[in-house]
Amino acid sequence: MSGVNIQGLSIKFGANEVIKGLDLQVVEGEFLVLLGPSGCGKSTLLHSIAGLIDVSGGRIEIGGQDMTDAEPSERGIGMVFQSYALYPTMTVEKNMSFGLRVAGTPKAEIARRVDKAAQMLQLTPLLQRKPAQLSGGQRQRVAIGRALVREAGVFLFDEPLSNLDAKLRAELRRELKLLHHTLGSTMIYVTHDQVEAMTLASRIVVMKGGVIQQIGTPAEVYERPANLFVAGFLGAPA
Ligand code: ADP
Ligand code: MG
Repeated sequence: MSGVNIQGLSIKFGANEVIKGLDLQVVEGEFLVLLGPSGCGKSTLLHSIAGLIDVSGGRIEIGGQDMTDAEPSERGIGMVFQSYALYPTMTVEKNMSFGLRVAGTPKAEIARRVDKAAQMLQLTPLLQRKPAQLSGGQRQRVAIGRALVREAGVFLFDEPLSNLDAKLRAELRRELKLLHHTLGSTMIYVTHDQVEAMTLASRIVVMKGGVIQQIGTPAEVYERPANLFVAGFLGAPA
């Protein structure tokens, strides 16, 4: 388990500064939701924590270690993307174990981790199916399973439920909460959906234009919005 400490983070694409001197302390074991409108820099921030893009300035610590320039595989994180491309020719089991096989994890250890993740995500009866034989919700569970088998201290989610219908979203929200409760890992979860943020988060970070507008519990940001933007975005009276 580990927290994430971000100091003075700046990310530029050419002359466009998308993350603007951002400070954020993610407490070990919390479920932190990054909430904000499309284009405000949520994915960019998540990708920088994952090590998928270079930072222009600042520092990222994971588990107390400077990881600003570390390779993604060195960071002790698992990530679930919005578009969860599964390998179409591989079974669920192979999809879930792929990363571990590439990393050279021993077979018995891979089997243990896949079994455990499959049980948590109710995928055990589906392990020998191919992605085409799964529903949308089941495919998304496989994508989550692929991250879970890393048994990382920090999990990053980038709008993982946005391609699903409302009923499935509600169901997977419940499962994610249970998963967090069971694992006790640090979760950083990106969404532009207020309901998702309010139901999942221990704390919500409201972002606009690469700048944090407010950090607080769901009740705090809803009942005491820091400014008109936060009030408007959460639909609460100012
Ligand atoms: P969000 O996830 O909140 O919708 P993003 O982090 O994807 O926002 O994008 C923030 C801003 O950065 C947008 O203006 C987007 O166009 C820009 N951006 C994101 N990725 C790149 C990139 N690889 N190259 C150039 N601009 C980018
Ligand atoms: Mg995004």
